[in-house]
Amino acid sequence: MTNCLLCQSSLRNTTSFDEIMSLAPTQARQLCEECAAKFFRLDSVATCDQCGRRLKAEMSNPCYDCERWQQQISFDFQNRALYEYNSAMKDYMKRYKFLGDYQLRFIFAKEVKKAVTRQKRLLVPIPVNAGTMATRGFNQVTGLLKGCSLVEALKTSQTVKDKRQSEKDRADRLRLIQPFELVEPQIERISGKNVTIIDDVYTTGTTIRHAASLLYQAGAASVIGITLAR
Ligand SMILES: [Zn+2]
Ligand SMILES: [Zn+2]
Repeated sequence: MTNCLLCQSSLRNTTSFDEIMSLAPTQARQLCEECAAKFFRLDSVATCDQCGRRLKAEMSNPCYDCERWQQQISFDFQNRALYEYNSAMKDYMKRYKFLGDYQLRFIFAKEVKKAVTRQKRLLVPIPVNAGTMATRGFNQVTGLLKGCSLVEALKTSQTVKDKRQSEKDRADRLRLIQPFELVEPQIERISGKNVTIIDDVYTTGTTIRHAASLLYQAGAASVIGITLAR
């Protein structure tokens, strides 16, 4: 008997007829129905073309945030998210990332893999910095990408931490600091390719656009993003 990865209640071993017939998300077998129902999938609702957020009735497409981005950046970038960043997803991220419960990657790993491998694109995960790696012990993004062929073309920039601390009051300047560097031996693999960047959560969109900007500099033909949550 297996248990729900979030609440530990025991799961039925049999697959119901409904699950077989529907396109039930693969986490159905990792989570009890009650826990699974708390996550909100974005594939069946209206979402912003540029960032993937769920569009409420009064929101335009692209959303206000993305209209601002269009004025600030000079390259094409679109993100798609699988789930809304609601309270269940926030709890999940807290347990997975900050409490470091690495087995929780299994809840979404199959779905993420399916989404990122649907098109034949080069897959570049957002890296974590050395400090996070030392305390957490894993990269939460690559944890979701088991079995995917990845090009780890980005690393976190060594110089960012000091700059961040000295300018921490200046949100605008912070936004301008490129947090990543290209990994030299991987650069030639990017040139001319269609690239998908993968991250766990899209919040302001700053991180993933910094990554996209570098990949365009390395000669990528197109860059899009896929995140677990938005
Ligand atoms: Zn549960
Ligand atoms: Zn948007």
